[in-house]
Amino acid sequence: HSRLRQSAEERRAETHPLTWRLREDGELVGLAEYLDKDGYGAVREALAGDPEAVIATMKTANVRGRGGAGFSAGTKWGLTLTGGDLPRGYLVCNADEMEPGTFKDRLLMEQLPHLLIEGMILAGFANRSRQGYVFLRGEYRRAARALGQAIDEAREAGWLGGDIGGSGFDFDIALHTGAGRYICGEETALINSLEGRRANPRAKPPFPGQSGAWGKPTVVNNVETLCNVPGVLRHGADWYQGLSGGLSEDGGTKLFGVSGRVARPGLWELPMGTPAAELLDRAGGLAGGRDLKAWLPGGASTGFLLPEHLALALDFDTIGRAGSRLGTGLMTVVPDDQPMPALLRNLETFFARESCGWCTPCREGLPWTVRLLEALERGEGEPGDLERLESLARDLGPGRTFCAHAPGAAMPLESALTHFREEFEAGIARPAPRPVGEEG
Ligand code: NAD
Repeated sequence: HSRLRQSAEERRAETHPLTWRLREDGELVGLAEYLDKDGYGAVREALAGDPEAVIATMKTANVRGRGGAGFSAGTKWGLTLTGGDLPRGYLVCNADEMEPGTFKDRLLMEQLPHLLIEGMILAGFANRSRQGYVFLRGEYRRAARALGQAIDEAREAGWLGGDIGGSGFDFDIALHTGAGRYICGEETALINSLEGRRANPRAKPPFPGQSGAWGKPTVVNNVETLCNVPGVLRHGADWYQGLSGGLSEDGGTKLFGVSGRVARPGLWELPMGTPAAELLDRAGGLAGGRDLKAWLPGGASTGFLLPEHLALALDFDTIGRAGSRLGTGLMTVVPDDQPMPALLRNLETFFARESCGWCTPCREGLPWTVRLLEALERGEGEPGDLERLESLARDLGPGRTFCAHAPGAAMPLESALTHFREEFEAGIARPAPRPVGEEG
C-alpha cells in the first residue's frame, strides 16, 4: 500500500513540481518533511557541477519570469556570466507581492519556504553570488515567520552558510521586510529600498543583472520563478518543456488563480497554456447566477478581456497577442452587473496612490484620471472627457515614464474605454434641455 502511495506521490512530483509537497492541512512543511520529499536534492546534484551548466539548463528550459513580465530567467542569469570579481554580486528574491488579486507567492512562502530557499541557493550558485535577499511584502507576516524559521533551520542543517553540502560554495539569505509600497516591487525601486534609499525606480538599462544593488550585478527573480528552479535542475529542461503538454510553446506549470465574484476563489497549479475557461470552471464559474462581463488575466496592470477570450491559452504570448498581458496569471472576474466606470475609478485610485511621484506623467496624470473617472461615475462628466482619458492613457503608456507603473495603470483604462465605451459615455451629463420659449 505504501509503495502504491509512494508511486502516486512520485508521479505528482513530476506533474506538479510546485505544489506536490504541500500538506493537506495547509500548515508549514518543515525541514524534516521537505528532506523526506526529495528536498535539497537539486542542490546536492547541481553544486557538484559548475554554474555554467546550471545557466545552460535554465536557458534551454526557457523558464519565463513569473513576476508578470515573462522574461527568460536563463537569459537574465546569463548577464552575470562575464566580467567582474568573484563573488559577482547579489541574488534578490522579489517577494513584494502587491499586485491586486494576486496571492500565489504568499502560498509558496507560507507553506513551502524550503522550496524557495532551495531555488535561491541554486540561483546564487549559478550567478556566483554569496548573498541572497528576500524582499518581502510587509503585510505578509505569516510568510515572514515561515521564511525566518526555514532560513534558520536551513542554516543549522548546513544548507545555508559556508561550504554548502561540502561543495565549497558559500551562500546565505537575509530576510528584509518592506514597508508596504506597491512601487517597491519594481525591481530597481526595490534595490533602492534595500540599500536604504527612497524607493524610486532607476533607469534601465543598465539592467540589475549588469549593475544593481550597491552597483554590483544583481539578479532579481520572483518567488514563483525561483521555486521552478529545483524541479528544472532535478528533472531537466525537456521534462520542463513537456509539462505544458502541448498547450503552450512555453514549458512548465503555473500557479493560476481566480478572484472576484466566483463560486470558489482559489489557486491551482496547472500546465502553462491552460485555457482560461478551464480555470474559471475550477473556480466554479460566476457566483449568484451572474454572467461574465470581462476579466483581467493577471492583476490590475493588465488589460480587460471579454467572455469570447475565455477559449485562449493562458500563456505570455497568447494573452499578449489578444492585447492584454498574462501578468501574474491570477484572473479577476467582472460580473455583468458591475459598472465599469466605478471599477476603473477604484483601480486608478490605487495606482495614483501608489505612484512614487518621480516622473510627471505618472504623478500628475494618474490623479487627473481619477478625477475624470469620479465625475463619469457620478454622471457629471463633461463632453470631451473620454477623449481626455484616452489622451492621458497614451501619455501614461510605454516609453513615457521611468518604469512600468504608469503603463500598467494605462492598460486596464485603455481596454475598458475600448470595450465598454458606452458605459463611460453614459456618465457625461446631458445639457439641460433648452426652453422652447420664454416664460412670462
Ligand atoms: P520588464 O519587461 O521591464 O522586465 C522584466 C524583467 O526582465 C526585469 O527583471 C528586467 O530587468 C529583465 N529584462 C528586460 N529586458 C532585459 C534585457 N534586455 N536584458 C536583461 N534583462 C532584461 O518588466 P518590469 O517592469 O520588471 O515588470 C512589469 C511586470 O510586473 C508586469 O508584467 C506586471 O504584471 C508585473 N507586476 C507584478 C506584480 C506582482 O505583485 N507580482 C506587481 C506589479 C507588477
